[in-house]
Amino acid sequence: MFSQNIIKELTNIVGRDNILTKREDLICYSYDATNQKFLPDVVVFPRGAEEISLILKMANFEDFPVIPRGAGSGFSGGSLPVEGGVVVSLERMNRILNIDTENLTAVVEPGVVTGEFQAEVESLGLFYPPDPSSLKFCTIGGNVAECAGGPRAVKYGVTKDYVLGLEVVLPTGETINTGAQTLKGVVGYDLTKLFVGSEGTLGIVTKIILKLLPLPATTKTMLAAFPDMKNAARAASSIISSKIIPSTMEFIDKNCVKCVEDYLNIGLPIDTDAILLIETDGDKDLAEKEADAMRKICLDNSAIEVKTAKDKREVKELWKARRAISPSLKKLNPDKINEDIVVPRNKIPDAIAGIQKIAEKYNLTIANFGHAGDGNIHVNVMIDKSNKDELSNAQKAVEEIFKLTLNLGGTISGEHGIGISKMPYIGMELSPAAIDVMKRVKQVFDPKGILNPGKIFPKGRE
Ligand SMILES: Cc1cc2nc3c(=O)[nH]c(=O)nc-3n(C[C@H](O)[C@H](O)[C@H](O)COP(=O)(O)OP(=O)(O)OC[C@H]3O[C@@H](n4cnc5c(N)ncnc54)[C@H](O)[C@@H]3O)c2cc1C
Repeated sequence: MFSQNIIKELTNIVGRDNILTKREDLICYSYDATNQKFLPDVVVFPRGAEEISLILKMANFEDFPVIPRGAGSGFSGGSLPVEGGVVVSLERMNRILNIDTENLTAVVEPGVVTGEFQAEVESLGLFYPPDPSSLKFCTIGGNVAECAGGPRAVKYGVTKDYVLGLEVVLPTGETINTGAQTLKGVVGYDLTKLFVGSEGTLGIVTKIILKLLPLPATTKTMLAAFPDMKNAARAASSIISSKIIPSTMEFIDKNCVKCVEDYLNIGLPIDTDAILLIETDGDKDLAEKEADAMRKICLDNSAIEVKTAKDKREVKELWKARRAISPSLKKLNPDKINEDIVVPRNKIPDAIAGIQKIAEKYNLTIANFGHAGDGNIHVNVMIDKSNKDELSNAQKAVEEIFKLTLNLGGTISGEHGIGISKMPYIGMELSPAAIDVMKRVKQVFDPKGILNPGKIFPKGRE
């Protein structure tokens, strides 16, 4: 319980209209996409770095946790106030401050919604590629903190590839600028890269300088259905080895296809083991040439059907289907443990076959989809958490899936981060020495451990 004095001081900093203390309001900021709940003591909506700096200075003095939050769409519990404290919601810092059409850069506040930013730059003939499937509601600040990826990562990379610089308020209250508004810059250590993906544990990002690209002239979208996941994976590998880098190459397994079709009823081919959703973009002639070549590769790899979207409406339908996978899986079971492993892309068939064996061993339904182009597989272990045996089996299965992933030369998280969900497993991938260095970095930035405690490292706040 926070003292009235702290609440009064916080109110003085952000103003009466920018603070919540009633239980019914706090509940709205107590969960994220993991569906776990931790009630904060207070939620504030600062309007700039100065206010955030005062809040963090106060947190150091009074010793309370501060948890940055974007839209709360994270899949690893990063925005959850696991030790209570003050949630700093960045949602009202949502202005696009500048789009520089000459230098192809932009400056935004962290609360800008990713999809809205994309639409804005696209209206100017520009392109911001990172496209997490949550883009309609997640924020660019949250994307920076998680180094979010998305389907286009195979060709265009992930959030870190577009962040040129940041304004960050450190846990101790100082505000620093990292990077520059230029494409190059090597002055001192690359703190920008350190903050990107730091899951809100090293500082609160208050401004972001982003790199933009010219909007590709054409996009060709196609869906290929395969009788076997192995064929789909082979087709994906062959496309890359034939030196075509599609702008997206998503795979969806049969469990996911059935759920999405039940959910949306849009005529997806349900009698298949896997589908690939492939897109190529760029100059019209080149995109068409690449689309033809990829179609042939899919057919050579036993595709039952390859359908090219005829118009924008069909493209929209196909992407609607892809983005509906996560919510539609609820049909299989009410809860899910959602992992986002990455393996070298030629190891996808081994990973899928191994996951299937683990599912059979523990009598679980596991639905897989993801980014075939970059080896990132979203593994959804579908369970009913009230069934204790099922939950315990699922936890054992997850550990085995991580072992399998690491044995295949992969990593346990491609884009969702560690947060609290993967905290128990971080030692499976990182050595004690590597974890120790990271903890010492955290100590330098946050000596009192007030910023987002209880995340990433099993012991958390020290
Ligand atoms: C349906 C669905 C689909 C998804 N698809 C994808 C996908 O394709 N790719 C992908 O990468 N992710 C995906 N996600 C996960 C999630 O949307 C991303 O991690 C996203 O980047 C989180 O943004 P957010 O604004 O919701 O951040 P939050 O969930 O609010 O916060 C995430 C982390 O960022 C920190 N944070 C937030 N803002 C700041 C800030 N300004 N400064 C410092 N730290 C901050 C928080 O403390 C927390 O640790 C998906 C989620 C859902 C629900």
